[in-house]
Amino acid sequence: MSDQIAQRVRAATREVPDFPSIGIGFKDITPVLADAALTADAIGAMSGPFEHEAISHVVAIESRGFIFGMPIALRLGASFVPARKPGKLPWKTVSESYALEYRADVLEMHQDALGAGARVLIVDDVLATGGTAAAAARLVTQLGGVVVALTVLSELTFLGARERLPFPIHSLVRYDV
Ligand code: AMP
Repeated sequence: MSDQIAQRVRAATREVPDFPSIGIGFKDITPVLADAALTADAIGAMSGPFEHEAISHVVAIESRGFIFGMPIALRLGASFVPARKPGKLPWKTVSESYALEYRADVLEMHQDALGAGARVLIVDDVLATGGTAAAAARLVTQLGGVVVALTVLSELTFLGARERLPFPIHSLVRYDV
């Protein structure tokens, strides 16, 4: 069942070469989102394995992580927590920086976003090098939470994020090249 959904997501995802910079093959998910039935199935497949994991909070990464994070949080009966780019959150924040290809970036969360012992599922659209997910996980740990897993629509396995991330990863579609 989830194999079929993965095939449909793969077929609908548009690869845009050299966006946003030369050498990047961008996974454009807007054709997936344009298909309501497929999006619903994809959200079910991303959240299904965590239905019995007592997830208390879904931490979604700005901005495409929000698209999947909110419906996954509702399905799991969990709180939705946005992890945002700097300067966007209005209340007191904690922050973590991480390296991108040509620059460093920062993710922030509200200081009161998690209670101690929170069981967190991190959500994003694409897992590439894993730097963004690692920063989100450090924010969770800073606030006393436990990262149960990361769930993503697509994983670029050739970038080796799995070897770097110390928590389980669930990906619906995997690109090996
Ligand atoms: P990384 O930190 O390298 O794992 O990058 C993951 C973040 O960058 C996610 O929030 C993705 O939305 C975005 N991203 C990285 N590579 C791609 C790609 N090839 N296509 C679409 N989004 C990407």
